[in-house]
Amino acid sequence: MQSTMQDVPLTVTRLLRHGSTIHGGSTVTTWTGAAEPHVRTYAEVGERAAQLAHALREDLGVDSDQRVATLMWNNAEHLEAYFAVPCMGAVLHTLNLRLPAEQLAWIVNHAADRVVLVNGSLIPLLAPLLPHLSSIEHIVVSGPGDRTPLADAPVPVHEYEELLADKPTSYDWPELDERTAAAMCYTSGTTGDPKGVVYSHRSIYLHSMQVNMAQSMGLTDRDTSLVVVPQFHVNAWGLPHAVFMTGVNLLMPDRFLQPEPLAEMIESVRPTHAAAVPTIWQGLLGELTAKPRDISSLTQVTIGGSACPPSLMEAYDKLGVQVCHAWGMTETSPLGTVARPPAGVSEEEELGYRLTQGRFPASVEPRLTGPGGEILPWDGESAGELEVRGPWIAGAYYGGAAGEDLRPADKFSEDGWLKTGDVGTISPDGYLTLTDRAKDVIKSGGEWISSMELENVLMSHPDVAEAAVVAVPDDKWGERPLATVVLKEGASADFETLRAFLGEKIAKWQLPERWAIIPAVPKTSVGKFDKKVIRRQYADGDLD
Ligand code: ADP
Repeated sequence: MQSTMQDVPLTVTRLLRHGSTIHGGSTVTTWTGAAEPHVRTYAEVGERAAQLAHALREDLGVDSDQRVATLMWNNAEHLEAYFAVPCMGAVLHTLNLRLPAEQLAWIVNHAADRVVLVNGSLIPLLAPLLPHLSSIEHIVVSGPGDRTPLADAPVPVHEYEELLADKPTSYDWPELDERTAAAMCYTSGTTGDPKGVVYSHRSIYLHSMQVNMAQSMGLTDRDTSLVVVPQFHVNAWGLPHAVFMTGVNLLMPDRFLQPEPLAEMIESVRPTHAAAVPTIWQGLLGELTAKPRDISSLTQVTIGGSACPPSLMEAYDKLGVQVCHAWGMTETSPLGTVARPPAGVSEEEELGYRLTQGRFPASVEPRLTGPGGEILPWDGESAGELEVRGPWIAGAYYGGAAGEDLRPADKFSEDGWLKTGDVGTISPDGYLTLTDRAKDVIKSGGEWISSMELENVLMSHPDVAEAAVVAVPDDKWGERPLATVVLKEGASADFETLRAFLGEKIAKWQLPERWAIIPAVPKTSVGKFDKKVIRRQYADGDLD
């Protein structure tokens, strides 16, 4: 029997209509550095999104599902593109501005981007790439920055504000099939060539609902969220779309991502929530220690993208900021788990739950597989590779050229689950604890050592700012851990001290023999420890 319910497509357009009318008074504040921050209401964002869609269609000829790329910081204009492009039926392609030039060009060509929207401050990055971009037909520039490097651009260059100026503030948005592509994002390539993930209107809509749920971020129109996680990194964890459902106000840092301006914007705009990877929080903590600020507005921060060291969580707890740990990846939109403790547990147990990667929501179905492909129990002890499936989980990669394997066997199981490459356990009540990425686990004499566990303990030492542990080849054991450590300013702990400290918490056979004190941990384009580079830089030396 068929239901009697209306069949209304779940589209980004519905989010736009809702946010720009019912939450039309909510605001997006963009940090501008020295001057006053720039404030725009969601009603204005809706009108400008309509103007942008007119400009893209009528002036630049963007049609059907052509790709419109953005090379932009987090700001109001980027938010406008987040709605204009998918709602007109085209596909928003956010470019990771921290990728090496070659990779960026490869991605633009692979996606066949037709237009690129660029912030003025990023022109120096775009200009030298242009001769290598085969599909770009128009460049649209917004915000401050010297335009002269684009003087010889091989394609027309437009000013964003000029394009929008004479356009109508409403648009006859088409009714789209919810399964059509709305946005795409390439993985940051830490595990090989970048791979394109294409999100649908439906996946974004459903994911937005999950982001807003109390057991996820649980924000309302009384909140202001400081979105430090870049809009080019997995849609800023879904926040720009999700806030149009609930009217949460946004604070966008634009290019001011250093600890000092972040502390300043928290003090002056007073957000209640913020989202960023652990390295940002680590940096901010250093800044707040050196120069205390009033961050009392901030009650909750979401940390994900890599494991949150317990010491970091505790440090923010002391500042009155609740850290909420979350796990996800480009292929999972990204929300996969959120570490909200269950009801009815003691305060001490709560901390234990908060330190896990979190609990799976209803739409993210997990399973753990052992080395032989066997399904492992959720007993909190059996460790295996995490596989997931659900309505906002990728089922394949985007294919440009013929002959590409869009469902590689190391990424998708035969029965269609996404293989995450993350190794961990699941508790009977559905909490995920990751021990490592499969490729970062140290395989020593047939046993596994978790690099993440060693790092977390090391980072709880008062002298240690950051620590990254990687596997190095070893004649006797196959692999052994190498601990690379960044000491806090003025600290002097030596290897023996750190090894003894580790020995209080970690089994003796897991303790690293090889150590290196390094000036800074190399980071990936999205601020994660870059273990590939660490191995290359430090693993070959005579470090014993
Ligand atoms: P890339 O794979 O290029 O780094 P992603 O941003 O998609 O790009 O990274 C996803 C990966 O980040 C996950 O597979 C996992 O290894 C790691 N990750 C994300 N969140 C967490 C977390 N809370 N704890 C540990 N690892 C995490």
